[in-house]
Formats: sequence, structure tokens, C-alpha cells
Amino acid sequence: MAQETKVAHHSSSSSPNPHIDFFAYNPEKEPIKAYLRIRPQSYNEPLIPEPYLQIVDDLEVCMTPPEDSNAFRARNRTPERYKFTKIFTESATQEDFFNQTTLPLIHDVLRGENALIFAYGVTNSGKTFSIMGTKQQPGLLPRTLDVIFNSINEYKSDAKLKPFMHKQPINRDHTTIAIDTNFEYGIWVSFAEIYTEKIYDLLISPDNMFQKRKALSLKYEYKSGHKYIAGLKEVKVKSIEEAYAILYEGQKNRAEYSTIINQTSSRSHSIFTIRIVRAPIDSHNYVIEDPTYATVSKFSIVDLAGSERYRNTLNSGQRLKEAGNINKSLMVLGQCMETLRLNQLKSAIGKKIALVPYRHSKLTELFKSSFEGDGKAVMVVNVNPFNTGFDENSHVMKFSAVAKDVATWKRVHPRLELKDISKYVNKRLRVTPKQKKVYYGIESLMNDDEDDDDDDDDDDDDESSEDPFVDNLIAQIEDLRNKWLEAETRCATMETEIRQQVTKETEIELKRMEEIYMSSLKRELQDKQNSMSTEMDKLCVHLNEHEATKHSLLEKISELEKDKQKQQEQLNRLAAQIKEKDAIIENLNSIEETNIEPLDKNSFIYTKFLNLRRKLRRSIFRNEEYSHDADVLMTEIEQFENVTFELVKETSMGKLMKLIVEKEFKSDPYKIHQRSKKLLNYYIKLSILSSQKREDKMIVLNTNHANQEQEIRTTLSKLKEENGKLKHKLKLMQESHKRLKKVFDNTWSFEYDDANTIPTLSIPESSKTQQKENKELVNILYYICACFFFFCLLIKLN
Ligand code: ADP
Ligand code: MG
Repeated sequence: MAQETKVAHHSSSSSPNPHIDFFAYNPEKEPIKAYLRIRPQSYNEPLIPEPYLQIVDDLEVCMTPPEDSNAFRARNRTPERYKFTKIFTESATQEDFFNQTTLPLIHDVLRGENALIFAYGVTNSGKTFSIMGTKQQPGLLPRTLDVIFNSINEYKSDAKLKPFMHKQPINRDHTTIAIDTNFEYGIWVSFAEIYTEKIYDLLISPDNMFQKRKALSLKYEYKSGHKYIAGLKEVKVKSIEEAYAILYEGQKNRAEYSTIINQTSSRSHSIFTIRIVRAPIDSHNYVIEDPTYATVSKFSIVDLAGSERYRNTLNSGQRLKEAGNINKSLMVLGQCMETLRLNQLKSAIGKKIALVPYRHSKLTELFKSSFEGDGKAVMVVNVNPFNTGFDENSHVMKFSAVAKDVATWKRVHPRLELKDISKYVNKRLRVTPKQKKVYYGIESLMNDDEDDDDDDDDDDDDESSEDPFVDNLIAQIEDLRNKWLEAETRCATMETEIRQQVTKETEIELKRMEEIYMSSLKRELQDKQNSMSTEMDKLCVHLNEHEATKHSLLEKISELEKDKQKQQEQLNRLAAQIKEKDAIIENLNSIEETNIEPLDKNSFIYTKFLNLRRKLRRSIFRNEEYSHDADVLMTEIEQFENVTFELVKETSMGKLMKLIVEKEFKSDPYKIHQRSKKLLNYYIKLSILSSQKREDKMIVLNTNHANQEQEIRTTLSKLKEENGKLKHKLKLMQESHKRLKKVFDNTWSFEYDDANTIPTLSIPESSKTQQKENKELVNILYYICACFFFFCLLIKLN
């Protein structure tokens, strides 16, 4: 009893939703208790360097999202905190766990209340271990059977059922609960399974089946208004051995079914139900066998399917169907819990409540009564933080956080007033069994049976009192004290919770504000960065442009330098040329002086040009700037016709131009400087031209002389040749003349021709041929003489 009280006390100091308690505190209502059980790490699981689950105290855990979780991606490392009725770490034994989670429920069930305990968690998190356990470490279900049978020992009703013999747990639980000995207890068990939204009986072995397992349906029970599994085999068990036999039979069948349809048991929900039928015993030790006075309480122990999502089950259509339906049941369970919780809040503030979707899955339909307050509900949350992902376990935690706020009714059955009914109900005389002391040395109520039929208080102790009224008062005081303590504790818890919540919310709000501020700051920075980078880009472009301009300018400068150099060279050349020209002019002047005939200084041209020169000189050198008449004079000079070098020289116009070129005024509107330069150049050209002319003339003369000489020489040589020839001929002629003379002297007589009156030489006939010959000779002579004469004339002419 002491242990039980401790448990009860602890559970009452759990942390229900402060809002619900505050607005709608109802001592008859109690929220679903949520016990977290953390599985120990098994030898083949890898060691996690930084576990995401931290145990804050024995009521609270903190889960920090690791970097590979969805939660981390959604909201970084913000930890999640979850509160539980109690947290069992890996060191907790099956016994501890059972004592604190299930024992109080057995207590209620034996007193006629309904109860539900279910294990929630992903596969491999320890649900089945918690519920069934092993031979060495039996779980809460075999322990429940143990405790029930231990407790009702002498008060169980006779059963005819033939037991199946099976192996039993080595470590039996010897706990006994003090029961109400005003009843006789009958224990009935059933074992069902929900798989892909179909309900199957686990107490029907596969051998009895044909091909397909028969699915059972849910039926409506008019009396209670709740659903039950129609056709489910219910076995009355008289002893713990029988109970075990049934349990293991069901488990065996479950395993066999799983193998037949190739599923794993983790995909189905298994429901083991213990019904306790209480038949009242009246004051004369008669068992009242009237159903009106019998109470039936139900204790359901549920091993839920793994709450993981599709991921691991996507390999075939069957798996997908399984996964879909499993998730459907669990999903609807979650939805129901959420709706129930919200409805509580709504009703607390007088708002209309919503419809709870029990009918959407078999599981919720079946447990509708439990969630609506038909007895207590306890949730065992199993987690394995070593090889289950953060997100999966976070999902489990969230579910439990919602479920643990759902309040269920505490009391179902009204207390029976057996004194009044004892006269007219069916009854049989009870064979009084040997009384047995309860475990932990607590005296059973059996001791004060007959007179003490109105009391089934929890807080009975061995201290017997003389006055039942005083006892009752003391009991009431104790009860009230407990309630007061409970309320105080709740207040304190509420306060701390509110404080924590406020701190948490403030933290969250601050964090949110910080995030908003940071994000806006980030955005601003980003904007600034962007604008800066665009500006930078622009500047870069400008810089490049400037660089290019700089380059081109440098090139231009170097070109200009070169130009300048060239111009300098040109200038130097020009200067040299000018010098040369000056020299030439000087020369020419000297030549002029010597060779050229002086200009006629009285001529009109000379005087005009000279006048122009004088006027221009005056106009330019009188003022400090060029005047209009300088322009007019310049134009006149430029347009002056028949300008010769001699004229320029004689009028010193060239010198004036040179002076003007050398002089520089600030402004030159008439471009006098340029024009004078041009004129000077022109005059220089004139000088060059005139000197060239002179040179040319001389060259022509010289060439003429040479030519003539050459000609004369050739003619002379020709003449000499001719002369030689003529001399030769003359010699010949002289010789022939001599011969002729001789002949003449000898034979020669003159005869005159009548016609010609010219004496002709008459030659004797004998000498007629001789005479002919002589005539030819004379002719040649004449010809030679004519030639010679002509020649001489020619020479003379030349
Ligand atoms: P579930 O039913 O959630 O799929 P199980 O109960 O089958 O998980 O547990 C998986 C394995 O872990 C089993 O071998 C079980 O014996 C072991 N196990 C679970 N919880 C515990 C625990 N608290 N202590 C020791 N072993 C455990
Ligand atoms: Mg399991």
C-alpha cells in the first residue's frame, strides 16, 4: 500500500496543462499520464558522439536538433523541451516501470474502473519490451496478470476452463493489491490485433483457419454506448497459469500470422484486454449473481504499431498499404488527441466543441470510451535515441505532449449499496475461502467484512478505529489533506511552469525579434553591398575608360613629341636652308653686283614696290600690333605683278619680310606673320630661281662652245682628210699636167671653133684620142677648183 500511495502521490504531482487545470479543475478528471521510457543502447548500435536527447530532470527532456534533421533546417538548433509524468532512463527496471505506470491502474481496475495503457513509439524503441518483456524481465502485461491473480487469490470465481500449458516467466511479480472483499472476481481475457484497419482474433490459431483470417467487426453496445469487437473470443481465466497460457497462445498466433502474410508484428496494433467481473457478496456471504449488480471493468493493454513513417516501407504495394493504414490509425489517434485537448480548452472558456474523429480508424473507434473518460489512460512513450532519427522521435514527443493534456474521467461505476439489494437478487452462498495476508503486510478489508461494507477507501490501514464516524471523518480529512497537498503542488508546479513558459516565450519572442532584426540588417547590408558593388563596377568601368584615355593621351603626347622633334628638325633644316638661302642671296647680291645689270631705279615698278615696302614698314613697326592698312599693303604686295628677285632685292622687300617674320605681336588678326613668311619663302624661291637661271644660261653657253668646238674639230679633220685627198689629186694632176705640157709642146696647135668663137685646141687626127683625154682632165680640174673654193667659203662663214 505504501508503494501504491507513493505512486499515486507522484502521479498527482505531474504537470497537466496549467490552463485546463486553472479554468476547469475537476477532481474527478485526470489527464492521460505520459511516461517516457528511454531504451538503453544495445551493443551493436553505433555510439553517438553528441546525443540529441538530454534528460533535464525526471520530468523533462530536451531535444536539440542535429544538423542532419529537418527540424534543424526549419529552425536551427532551437531545442525542444518535453515534459512527462515521469521519465524512465535506461537504468529503470521492468519492475520499477511496472510499479509506477501500471500498478495504480490495476488498483482502479480491481475497483471497477476501466483503464487503458498503450505503448507509443517507433519500431525498435522498446514498446514490446515494455509490455511483454522477456522471460527474465517480464513486462507490464504478465506482471498485471500476476498482480491481479495475486490479489484476488481467494476471491476469484470458479472457472471450468481447461488451461493451455506454456512456459511462464521466471520472475513472477509477487505484488498484491488490497481488494474489495465484498466482491467475487471473475477474470476474462481476449487478445486482438488490428492490422491494415482490420481486426483479427489472436486467440484463434492459424490451424483453425481456412485460407484467410477472418476479420472481426466493431459493434455498438447499446448499454454503454461504446463499440466492442463482435465475435472476439473471450476466455475466462481461473489461474495465472491459464492467463499466461492464453497470453502466449496469442503471442504465438500473432507471430505465426505475421510469418504467413509476411508482415512484421511491428506493423500491427495488439490489444490484450482483461475484464474483471465483480459479483457482490452480501452480508450473509452470498454471491449476488444478478447482472444488474455485477460490475465489469476493463483493462486494455495495447502495443501500438511503430509510429515511423513510410520511408522504410515503400518497397512494395502491400507495404505501402500497411504503412498507409498503420499511419491512418496512428494519425487519427493523434487527431483525436488534438481535438480532445482543444475541446477541453474550448469548453473551459465556454466555446463550442468540435467533433472528435474517432470513427476514422478502428483503433480510435475501439478506444473512444477510454478517451472520453471511461477510466484512466496511461501512455508509455518509448524512445530509442541511439538509432532513431531526431525527426521521428520529435514526432513521437509531440504526439505525447498533446496526449498528456487530454483529461479522462477517473470514476465510472457508482458505488453499490449492497444492503438494500440483498433481499431480492439471485444469489448463491459463498464458500468462505481461507484468508490470506496481502503483500507488504497490509491487512485486507476481509478482516472487517460484515460490518464494514460501506467503505472501499484507498487509504485503509491496519489501524482499526472504534468509531466508524470518526474513522470516516479522519479518512475524509486525510483525503482533503491529500487533495490540498495536491492542489498546492499543482499550484507550485503551475507557477514554475508559467514562469518557465513566460521565460521560454520571452526567449522565443526575443529570438524572433533578433532574427527579424538580423534578417533586416542582413537585407540592408546585402542591399548596401549590392549598391556598392554596382558602384564599384561603374568606377571600374570609368577607371578603365580613364586608363584608355590616359593611354591614348600618352600616345598622342609621344606623337606630338615626335612631331615636335620633326618640326624642330624641319625648323633646323629650314633655318639651315634660310642660312643657305641668305648665303645664296648674299652670293647673288655679289653676283648681281658683278654680273647682273642694275635694275632701272627710275622705273615705275621699282618706285611702286619701294613705296609699298616703306609704307608696310612704317605700318608694322610704328605700332605694337598689326593694323588694317598693314593688311591692305600686304595684299597689294602679294598681288604685285612681275616681281623679280632683282626688284625684291633692290627694294629690300625680302629684308622687311624677314624682319616681320622675326618679330611677333600678341595678336595677328590679318595673319601678317604667316603671310610675310609665305612671301619670304616666295622671294627665296625667286632668288633660287634667278640664280638657277643664271647658272643654266652659263651652262647652255658652255655647252654651245663645246659643241661648236667639237663640230669644228670634226669638220677640220674631215677637211684635212679632204685636203689630203685633194693634195694627192693635185699631185696627180700636176703630173698629168706636166705630161700634157710635154705633149702640147710637141703637138699642140690652136684651132678655133666657129660657133663658139672660143679658140679650141685642134688636134691632129693622129692625136684626136689624146685630145679627148685632155678635155676630161680639164673638167676634173675645174671641178676640184670649184670644190676648194666652196670649202674655203664655208670656213670663212663659220
Ligand atoms: P518495439 O516493440 O518498439 O519495436 P522492442 O520492444 O522489440 O521494440 O525492442 C527492441 C529491442 O530492444 C529488443 O531486443 C528489446 O529486448 C530491446 N529493448 C528495448 N527496451 C529495452 C530496455 N529498456 N532494456 C533492455 N532492452 C530493451
Ligand atoms: Mg514491438
